[in-house]
Amino acid sequence: IQKAFEKSSLLPATTLDGKTLKVYGNIGGPEECPGVLGNGGAGVGLYRTESLFISRDKFPTEEEQFQVYRRAVEAMQPNPMIIRTLDLGGDKMVSSYQYAQEEENPFMGFRAIRFCLEHTDVFKDQLRAILRASAFGEVQIMYPMISSVEELLRANQVLEEAREELRNRHAAFDENIKVGSMIEIPGAALVADLLAEHCDFFSIGTNDLIQYLLAVDRVNDRIAHLYQPNHPAVVRTLERIMDVAREHKVPVGVCGEMAADPIYVPLLYGLGAESISVTPASLPEIKYLLRRMKLKEAQALAKKVARLSDPESIYMTLSAFYAKVMGDLFKEES
Ligand code: PEP
Ligand code: MG
Repeated sequence: IQKAFEKSSLLPATTLDGKTLKVYGNIGGPEECPGVLGNGGAGVGLYRTESLFISRDKFPTEEEQFQVYRRAVEAMQPNPMIIRTLDLGGDKMVSSYQYAQEEENPFMGFRAIRFCLEHTDVFKDQLRAILRASAFGEVQIMYPMISSVEELLRANQVLEEAREELRNRHAAFDENIKVGSMIEIPGAALVADLLAEHCDFFSIGTNDLIQYLLAVDRVNDRIAHLYQPNHPAVVRTLERIMDVAREHKVPVGVCGEMAADPIYVPLLYGLGAESISVTPASLPEIKYLLRRMKLKEAQALAKKVARLSDPESIYMTLSAFYAKVMGDLFKEES
């Protein structure tokens, strides 16, 4: 089985009805780029930049960040890379950090874009570093934890200041850089039509979206059984975001763990995802699956699943589709 996966990882993710789908890898630093390429990723759909910031007591400078982002961008050439701005807080804050504060509900607290919009000096350093890296390959910027149009506008304002500063410095960067908003808060999903007016793409973060939608702490083992990507509320929310995105002609990707589970991959593309971004180790199996299904069938599957009313039947329907597509492979093995 492993051999079959490896073989398809090097081939394009083209479905049986001839649609080549975008399958990207998630990374946490430039050292992970070879893993994405080696497993057949067509780019990076989520570069989590937090590792540069945690486990130390001083923020990295613009220059320091630029060097790291540039290395990542160069390693991925000629493939695109979405760099996400700082998502400190929640599960990504270390206690020794100079800005760390005790919070009763860190996942609903002072994290990500909330932190950046208060510490705009830190935010702007990072934005300038990312912008400068965009002179070395196709880079897109993405904001985490956007919950309202106002936050998106404020973030874009800081970005504009960062660009202006670079222009004054005559530093090279991509003037047409694309800017996206993560959709990982239910409120953002509900105003996706408004957000679409002010960004170039969406990326759905299912890890947080599911946690907030179902009020289930994503790191609490006691309630892990309630953390259900197959909950009808999740399917409906995804459907709604994708429909709005299609209407507004905003491409939408999915970068949470749900996208890395091959059971859910046909559903995501069937609902209208333009791309998915997953942990590199999941790429080969996903590409194998995509090369053996028709997008048309995935669309029919999504339509069917969106009408189901309980998690169990959603899961069974998706599993049956997966088993049918993968069927030959498992038969060949036994
Ligand atoms: C998500 O929330 O789905 C996501 C991709 O971001 P993170 O896991 O880094 O919070
Ligand atoms: Mg998240």
